[in-house]
Amino acid sequence: MIFKWLLGKRKKKQLSTPQKKQSKRTVRKVVHGEHYNLQEIYDRVNIHYFDGRIDVQITWFGSQKRAARRRRVLGLYDFNNKLIKIHRLLDHPNFPSYFISYVVYHEMLHHVFPPTQKRRGRRKIHHADFKLHEKKFAEYSLAKEWEKENHQIFFSKKGSQGEK
Ligand SMILES: [Zn+2]
Repeated sequence: MIFKWLLGKRKKKQLSTPQKKQSKRTVRKVVHGEHYNLQEIYDRVNIHYFDGRIDVQITWFGSQKRAARRRRVLGLYDFNNKLIKIHRLLDHPNFPSYFISYVVYHEMLHHVFPPTQKRRGRRKIHHADFKLHEKKFAEYSLAKEWEKENHQIFFSKKGSQGEK
C-alpha cells in the first residue's frame, strides 16, 4: 500500500478499507486510462527493474471524481489475486509519469518482498528489505519530493492539514 493519508482524527476503523474481502475470482482489469496506460508503465518498470520476471496484473481502481475522501490510498497490492491496483486519481497530467511509475514500482515490490511477521504477531509491510529496494528506483528522491510538495492535490479544499 502506498500513501495512506488520514485527515482529521478518526482513529477508529469506520471507513471501509479497500482491502476488505479479497475473494479469488476473475478480476476485471482496466489498464487504459485517459492519460496513462498502466500496462505500458508496468511493463517498462518490470523490464527495467525486475528483468521482466514479475508476473502480476495491474488495474485502475476508484473514480476520478471522488476527491473529497478523508482517506486516500493511491496504490494497493492484492496478494490473493496478484493484482496491483492504482487509483484513478493518478490518471491525470497533474501527475508526472515518474510518479506513477514509482507508485507502480512500489506495489510491485510488495509482490517481491511480502510482509514479514514480527515478534508478537505484528506484520511489517514496509520492512527494511523493502525500503532498501524501494530506494533503487531511479527517481526515488524526485518522487518523494514531488509527493511532499503536492500532496494537497489528493484532497479537496475541505481537507485541512493532512497527516500521514
Ligand atoms: Zn506499500
